[in-house]
Order: sequence, then C-alpha cells, then structure tokens
Amino acid sequence: MGSSVFQLAIKNRERMSSADAFLLPGLRRRNLKLQTNSQVIEIILNADNKAIGVKYVHNHKVKRAFAQREVIISAGAADSPKLLMLSGIGPKEHLEKLGIKSRVNLPGVGQNYQDHVMVYGISWTIHPNVSSSIFSRIGIKAMLNYKERRSGPLASPLGVCALYHLNIGSPQEPHVPDTQINMGCALEGQDYGLMALSGYQQSVRDYYRPVFGRDGFSMIPMLARPKSVGSITLRSRNPLDPPIVDPNCLSHPDDLSLMIKAAKASRKLGNAKAFRRALGAEPFRDPIPDCAHFEFESDDYWRCFVVGMSTVTAHMTGTCKMAPDSDPMAVVTPRLK
Ligand SMILES: Cc1cc2nc3c(=O)[nH]c(=O)nc-3n(C[C@H](O)[C@H](O)[C@H](O)COP(=O)(O)OP(=O)(O)OC[C@H]3O[C@@H](n4cnc5c(N)ncnc54)[C@H](O)[C@@H]3O)c2cc1C
Repeated sequence: MGSSVFQLAIKNRERMSSADAFLLPGLRRRNLKLQTNSQVIEIILNADNKAIGVKYVHNHKVKRAFAQREVIISAGAADSPKLLMLSGIGPKEHLEKLGIKSRVNLPGVGQNYQDHVMVYGISWTIHPNVSSSIFSRIGIKAMLNYKERRSGPLASPLGVCALYHLNIGSPQEPHVPDTQINMGCALEGQDYGLMALSGYQQSVRDYYRPVFGRDGFSMIPMLARPKSVGSITLRSRNPLDPPIVDPNCLSHPDDLSLMIKAAKASRKLGNAKAFRRALGAEPFRDPIPDCAHFEFESDDYWRCFVVGMSTVTAHMTGTCKMAPDSDPMAVVTPRLK
C-alpha cells in the first residue's frame, strides 16, 4: 500500500517520553505535585465503591493520598489492571482464589490484552563497500558528531530505516493496512552478537554466527491489527509481585496465516532488484535448526519459522477495555469512567 520513514516521538533530535513532553512542563502548575519513588499499592474505595484515593509506598512507609475530585489510574496496560485487581476490582473468581475481597466484579479487567506480534530473522547481507555497519553508527565519530552538532547517524532512529504498509489478508477492507514491515538497518549478528542477540539462547546466537560482523539489513513483519488476545492476571496478592503476562500471540488461526503471508512478503520485498543493485543485497538463507527438516521456505517451513521467531513489541494495550455498559467485558466507559 505504501512506504514511509519511521515515525518516533523525537524533539530536537532527542527521544521524548510522555513525561518529558507533558509532565515536566506541567510541573510549573500550582495544582500539580509529582511524588516520585512511590508505588501505588491499592485504590481506596468508599462504601459505594467510588475511588476516593490511593495507598502508596514511599520510603518504605505506606501512605495515603485522597482526591478532591477523582482518581485517574494510568499505570500502563500491565499495571493498571494489576492495581484494579489488588483493589478488589476484577474477575471475582480470580480475586477470591488469591484471598482478595471482591468489591466490583468486572470480568474484563486484565483480559483483551493485545500487542503487535512481529517476527525477526528474515535478513540479507550487503556489499561491504555499502556500509550499514553498526560500529560506524555508534562509534566515537558518530557520538562527537551528535554531541556537537546534533547530527549524523545518532540523530536518526538507529534500528529502523523504513516502513512498509501492506494489505495482504483483508480483502474486505482493501484500504486499511493489516501488516507493517519494518526495515531494520542492521543484520542480527552484525555486532558479533554483542547487543542485538544478547539475551537470546545460545542456539540463536549460533545460527547467526556465519554472518557475525557482516553488514546487512532485515525485514521484520508485524501484524497491524492482530486478532489474538492474551491476559494479565495476578501472581499473588502481594503488590510488589509482577503480574502474570500472557501475550498469547498467534493463537488466533487468522493471525498465524497472515503472519506466514507477511513473512513471505518480507522475503519478496528484500529480494527486490533495487536492493540487490544498490546494496548488493544477498538473502541470508541458512534454515533455522528447529525448522531445517521442512523444505526451505515452503509453507510448512514458514509456519515453523514464524512460530519460533516471533516476539511481542512492547505495545501492550486493551487490558482495561473501553466499551459501552452492554459489553460484559467493559472496564471503562467511552469517557474513561
Ligand atoms: C522499548 C520500547 C520502545 C517503544 N517505542 C515506541 C515508539 O517508538 N512509538 C510508540 O508509539 N510506542 C512505543 N512504545 C510503546 C509505548 O511506550 C507505550 O505504548 C506507552 O508508553 C504506553 O503508555 P501508558 O501511559 O499506557 O503506560 P506507560 O508509559 O507504561 O506509563 C505507566 C506509568 O505508570 C507507572 N506505574 C505503574 N504502576 C505504578 C504504580 N503501582 N504506582 C505508581 N506508578 C506506577 C509506571 O512507572 C509508568 O511511568 C515503546 C515501548 C517500549 C518498551
């Protein structure tokens, strides 16, 4: 459907977070107090189950803060449902199993978890004269250039050089992309496994060993509108325990078949003549060991590859579903109440 540069939250060539963009400038306001190093452990509800304040831990002490008008919970897609459940708002059965008194039985809390699943490992080497070397981009020269002039490779997104938007599995909505392919301007293994592969199993590092130190690029397909849903549940009633995060990616059969198509489309895209001519692109064609018993790049191979090489993108969403009261899984109203 089209291509674009990668859009990121950047200002003055620096990555901006929501806190940088909105919170810090707002600190001038007299009616805003920011309390850092504090973890909210419970929402305080009155007898009518209306939120009136929060309990939080600060300097190893449990403290309370009360609201004059309303309490806004915006702890992210993992911690917002966790906090609601710790406060007795959530699926009754789950809470009671953990010994938490149910105050409001809302089965949707923590359900409907969605994320952009993506697949790594579809890669190309490029001619050594056309450097996309990670070291040229993060070396001393690049650092000085960035520090002194805010320019050079460090002033642009390091990992991704282009985006492609495709509709390959939704003919009923031909104008809406269902797949995004991120062109990663590095080949996994290019940095000798120092950063990109750190944390991966030894078998994955071994797989990329033949291209350690080689310049290259990769095409990383990602589902734009996945149908699979996962969940966030409580591990225990201890607020300091992280919740159980189950992304349940690719569990919907439509997602798996779309991702297989997306992987094939990624291979086709990177094999385009333009990349071969301009960059000397050559596909890295070693089969991944767990799938080597399938014919290389057959449907069965891609299915095995996609299942083995997929991961989430840290774009968690949907765990406090916004929906009308008629939806039994609704958590907040369309006005976020
Ligand atoms: C590495 C990475 C890169 C990303 N890149 C992009 C990108 O380029 N573009 C994009 O659109 N999205 C990107 N995302 C996703 C994006 O960051 C998130 O979707 C977005 O930040 C979610 O916003 P939020 O306000 O829901 O939650 P968050 O940003 O997670 O904010 C929740 C806040 O609540 C605080 N909190 C949680 N629990 C408690 C508690 N109990 N008490 C007190 N405070 C609490 C947390 O510390 C946090 O500050 C990226 C995510 C990651 C991890």
